[in-house]
Amino acid sequence: MSSLPSDPPKLGARSTRQRTAVVSVLSEIETFASARQIYEQLDSRGMKVGLTTVYRTLQSLADLHMVDVLHMSNGETLYRQCSSDSHHHHLVCTSCGRTEEIDGGPVETWARGIASEHGFFMSGHDAEIFGLCATCHLRED
Ligand SMILES: [Zn+2]
Ligand SMILES: [Zn+2]
Ligand SMILES: [Zn+2]
Repeated sequence: MSSLPSDPPKLGARSTRQRTAVVSVLSEIETFASARQIYEQLDSRGMKVGLTTVYRTLQSLADLHMVDVLHMSNGETLYRQCSSDSHHHHLVCTSCGRTEEIDGGPVETWARGIASEHGFFMSGHDAEIFGLCATCHLRED
């Protein structure tokens, strides 16, 4: 896979159709999903989109900020189409995948402050909270 980050998205008619298929699956999935899970969803609907194309499409959607990306500690990358267009963070249930979109609150001022303390101009930051949602927590007891 040769995916240089500087690659401009070249979208022919074929890739537009595939992209529409990926976007429609994403809009139906409430939780963060891996490229493979999205690929399997497409497959079960009889939509023939290769796994590599799914990866590439998700990457280009992420570059355009059309999907949110989560980098899990196990190296897996998960994607989700968020309902909020503005900057936000996530609370993610590691058991059922339920996701809440949350405000950064003090994280925003902290990130900007710590960056400028070190002479950095902040271009972005990431902070996701993982845990068990109330339902899953009850189930574990
Ligand atoms: Zn989000
Ligand atoms: Zn849960
Ligand atoms: Zn933030």
